[in-house]
Amino acid sequence: TLVYEHEFKTKAFSGKTRIETGIFIDGKFSAGADGGTIDVINPTTGKLITKIAEGTRKDVDRAVVAAQKAYDTVWGTKTPGYERGKLLIRLAELIEENADELAHVETIDNGKTLRDSRGFDVVQAAAVFRYYGGWADKVEGKTIEVNPSKFAYTVHEPIGAVGCIIPWNFPLLMLSWKLGPALATGNTVVLKPSELTPLTALRVCSLINEAGFPPGVVNIVNGYGTTVGAAIAEHPHLEKVAFTGSTLVGRSIMKAAANSNLKKVTLELGGKSPNIIFNDADIGQAVKWAAFGLFFNHGQCCCAGSRIYVQSGIYDEFTKQFADHVKTLQVGDPFEESTYQGPQVSQTQQERILGYIEAGKKDGATLLVGGDRHGTEGYFVQPTVFADAKADSKVMSEEIFGPVACVSRFEDEEDIIHQANDSMYGLAAAVFSKDVTRAISVAHRLKAGTVWVNCYNQLNPQVPFGGYKASGFGRELGEYALSNFTNVKAVHINLHGTM
Ligand code: NAD
Repeated sequence: TLVYEHEFKTKAFSGKTRIETGIFIDGKFSAGADGGTIDVINPTTGKLITKIAEGTRKDVDRAVVAAQKAYDTVWGTKTPGYERGKLLIRLAELIEENADELAHVETIDNGKTLRDSRGFDVVQAAAVFRYYGGWADKVEGKTIEVNPSKFAYTVHEPIGAVGCIIPWNFPLLMLSWKLGPALATGNTVVLKPSELTPLTALRVCSLINEAGFPPGVVNIVNGYGTTVGAAIAEHPHLEKVAFTGSTLVGRSIMKAAANSNLKKVTLELGGKSPNIIFNDADIGQAVKWAAFGLFFNHGQCCCAGSRIYVQSGIYDEFTKQFADHVKTLQVGDPFEESTYQGPQVSQTQQERILGYIEAGKKDGATLLVGGDRHGTEGYFVQPTVFADAKADSKVMSEEIFGPVACVSRFEDEEDIIHQANDSMYGLAAAVFSKDVTRAISVAHRLKAGTVWVNCYNQLNPQVPFGGYKASGFGRELGEYALSNFTNVKAVHINLHGTM
């Protein structure tokens, strides 16, 4: 089958990567059933990196058969939690041992800065696998006393063969968020990475073999959403689908689940998260966190703090400092240490974001910084700041998924609660204030799955993450994620032995 070989030579790492780019089923790589390929493009240059095998519905069927067989014969309840945990922890170690290589592959494929790939994505992915390795032998039910002649207990069983579909913004990390809890609880998996960023997942396939997972426990089928993704969502023999991506596709996943076998669904979708800065906040700190909250990963975060609301007493000062700070963010080659922002992931995304910027200008928002593409090669967009966009304008209400911040004003607590919650989304929010009572009371009134106080974008394997409203349902990370991948069985025991 196909192989991607490349020699990296940067200050951080000189070495070769070798990635088999076939369909990964039953521990082996193969060509797709129809022999097709997908071009993988380097977003920094717009040029071809390599070709990977394109999966089809037939490949999904084959992967499901392998996953079911592995579940019935070697995984599920056949491998004790302790052994599953050891394998997950071994995988975490292998990711750490190959961290530089994985980070370089992630950066060439996705365009995110090497600093973030190495310091965030790879480190966090390993941490997530280790964390769920720790859970694997601690998934326990309850005993329930009913009356003197009867007690009941619950067993948290794996669901079986499950499907996972992930996006391109954190390819390796999203893989770990899905595989970690799914495997810890004893499920086998058919996973589809984004067709835009398939390479780190393919490299991890070899690490999964090296760690010693039995063949068929993890199967990775690359391909397009409308073929491979839809086949997973519709599959009659997958009992669950876990999806991260856009709200639009999330709706189609739910419909497909409803129309097929009513498989269980968890969805992690988009957002338009409010970042609220009160008069008494430390302005310098709030400026830095707000910039990180939006421009991290080039604005391609589902939880990006894209609506920055500043109380009127500090609005002018904050806006000036924020604009000055954003002007210092360096855009360029993601492999350069000084670069803060690399390219967007694709030309489609670049064009979409530029379309939003034009809409912002047309709708009368004040453009303070940026507002155009950056350079002539690759898919770069200038870090952009709008002020005073109308609440119902496109830039203020729709998810842009790019480096476009909107700063807006509010008067008091009631005003901001109303503005912040006035969105179809509810993924995340933040509050900046030195008044702990206010920060907490506002945090409790915000309709969002995560609220950060005096910080932004903090994600830890131990802490659940997920949405309210159209941002989805189910929680990833933490103990909560285990319930996405288990069925609860209740067993009633008759202690009298007679009726
Ligand atoms: P997307 O919805 O287009 O694609 C996500 C995945 O779904 C990809 O693997 C894609 O191939 C697949 N897909 C596309 N159409 C499909 C279909 N009809 N059936 C089944 N699968 C299909 O999203 P994207 O552009 O890759 O990612 C960006 C979006 O993801 C943003 O909206 C962002 O907010 C969201 N996101 C959410 C979270 C979260 O945790 N809530 C995390 C990351 C990204």
